[in-house]
Amino acid sequence: MKNDIHDKILGSYVGLAVGDALGATTEFMTPREIQVNIGVHNKITGGGWLRLKPGRVTDDTEMSLALGNSLIKSQGFNLNCIGDHYVQWMRSKPVDIGSTVRKGIRDYMLKGITVQMESEMAAGNGAAMRNLPLIIYCLKKWGYFEQMTRLQSHLTHNNKKSDLITLCFGEMTKILLETGDKLHALKIANRLIKINPKFSYSRYKGESSGYIVDTFKTVMHYFSDETSFEKILVGVVNQGGDADTNGAIAGMMAGALYGYSSIPAKWTKKIDTEVLRAIRIQCRELMDIPVRYTDEI
Ligand code: MN
Ligand code: MN
Repeated sequence: MKNDIHDKILGSYVGLAVGDALGATTEFMTPREIQVNIGVHNKITGGGWLRLKPGRVTDDTEMSLALGNSLIKSQGFNLNCIGDHYVQWMRSKPVDIGSTVRKGIRDYMLKGITVQMESEMAAGNGAAMRNLPLIIYCLKKWGYFEQMTRLQSHLTHNNKKSDLITLCFGEMTKILLETGDKLHALKIANRLIKINPKFSYSRYKGESSGYIVDTFKTVMHYFSDETSFEKILVGVVNQGGDADTNGAIAGMMAGALYGYSSIPAKWTKKIDTEVLRAIRIQCRELMDIPVRYTDEI
């Protein structure tokens, strides 16, 4: 089958939103609690600790859209414009916001700080969860991806593990979008694990918290073992923990591999139509913007 990159880009972005909306129901639950209360969680039903309407997405999708809108607005990469878009999002009273994200956005808003201090506390998955627009944007000129990713990440999360894994998810997603070569993508992850044996997901014990290494293991475990978009997502969100964020990242990768058409319609049709519309617009426009820093001009 032809590798239709537009179908796959849309698949990765809608996949992100679907994983977010599906996982939000089981966020902070244990696998046992999910089993007892829901059985197998495989429907977008809303609820969860945030008491969401079915199909409502959370910070993961909303921050991604904010990043994408900023790239479109400045017709390039402008760190202050990204910061402003995060501020605007925080002011919109989001349904959920992580503490590290909140601190970073507040520091930018009140003091103009664009680089957080490096910290072990910042080893959460909050930078990785929102980086997809940058992956799509940088496809044309991949040489820019690493630095742009570090810059947008360090607005809130300045941490080596977060950087390594956010970059690794990005490399893998690029390969999946461009070639659909799953083995090649897994090799990228294995290269990272060789240097950081603690990232190995072959000794995965079910950890699924918002710690970036847990996110990596959870997503990689199901991404490598399962064989469809639906199975990967169901596996991830039934681990509970940071289920919406882990689901969002798994959805991004699975959508990049299998494409939009592989996402079950029972899930896509539940997603908020405004969100779907915004995603479609970004998928189109992000491909066309020149890859450059506009704050240097
Ligand atoms: Mn969330
Ligand atoms: Mn979350």
